[in-house]
Amino acid sequence: MDARATFLLLQIQEVTVPGWDTEARITETMKYSKIETMPLTRQQALDYFHSPDLIGLGFEADAVRRRLHPEGVVTYIIDRNINYTNFCTEYCTFCAFYRPLTGPRSEEGYILDFEKIYEKIAETLEMGGTGVLMQGGIHPDLKIDWFERLFSGIKKRFPQIWLHCLTASEILAIAKYSDLSLRETIVRLRAAGLDSIPGGGAEILDDDVRRRIARIKCNTEDWVSVHRTAHQLGMRTTATMMFGVGETFEQRINHFEVVRRLQEETGGFTAFIPWSFQPGNTALGGRGWEEATSVEYLKVLAIARLYLDNIENVQASWVTQGLKVLELGLHFGGNDVGSVMLEENVVKAAGTSNCTTEEELRRIIRDAGFKPVQRDTLYRTMFLS
Ligand code: SF4
Repeated sequence: MDARATFLLLQIQEVTVPGWDTEARITETMKYSKIETMPLTRQQALDYFHSPDLIGLGFEADAVRRRLHPEGVVTYIIDRNINYTNFCTEYCTFCAFYRPLTGPRSEEGYILDFEKIYEKIAETLEMGGTGVLMQGGIHPDLKIDWFERLFSGIKKRFPQIWLHCLTASEILAIAKYSDLSLRETIVRLRAAGLDSIPGGGAEILDDDVRRRIARIKCNTEDWVSVHRTAHQLGMRTTATMMFGVGETFEQRINHFEVVRRLQEETGGFTAFIPWSFQPGNTALGGRGWEEATSVEYLKVLAIARLYLDNIENVQASWVTQGLKVLELGLHFGGNDVGSVMLEENVVKAAGTSNCTTEEELRRIIRDAGFKPVQRDTLYRTMFLS
């Protein structure tokens, strides 16, 4: 039996074997995500970026998508983004969401109280949601005990909710302000209820780009160390990419390479999720940056599918691209449409406000020629719909 077939069998067992030990299961699936691959070389990726043959590139990416997902299914999740605070000390030039701790704009800052967060989670569950993606700005007063109380309070009230929370930069900040090692921080957060970690904060994993757009935020090595440590502890994470901030094609390939190498080492990424920088209301956008075109988006999506063929899932984005480009993206390597997203604040702050419903996402998936299936945060499709 090949690795893919074994992986699918494990998923089926998840449906039929009650009480399967979650941690052992995640470690098992991680092992099988180290799949046999036929990656692009850097030069091939560069040639694709320069090529005008968009359709040919789509065919190549679609072939990889079909090899990894021959069952013709495209998945989605129902969850909610909760941003516990918009206060932040990092001043990223591409961000329209944060508010500084002092000065006139600090009056627009907030920290959600726990009751409000519980209320949002209760609503999410009522609407068929299975998880929350919770992240926020960097606030020096929010130390490990605040997050431990929050996560354990959530799990006590809602044991069934999957907590996919805290980007690498937030985890590093919690470690720093709590005088803990990175490993201790992740172990304690996990013990309190954290289930998996989102890939946000990656932007472009090339330090020349990071120094230009996010001088204070964590560097490439720091981002990698958070994900590596989580994987070593048996936690799954995702990898993301925000492109269109003036990076070169080579720098995009550097990003793919960093992610690919860590996946070769650990097998811990469940998915790769690229999206384009939304310039509205940002310092960087104020310098006249043009948003990446849909063609550019489809190229990045397709090249990511080809370069990162050791990552099982590639997500197409409707939040930044809208539903028409999303549908096209399913023929450019995407096998997942992300979340129905009952709440989203970060992209909205940049003036981009696409919205959708579960019915609409399912229709778009069908129109593109696939079977829509709801999944959970770990891309397990135990909802047999
Ligand atoms: S992107 Fe995140 S870390 Fe950067 S300013 Fe915005 S909230 Fe802060």
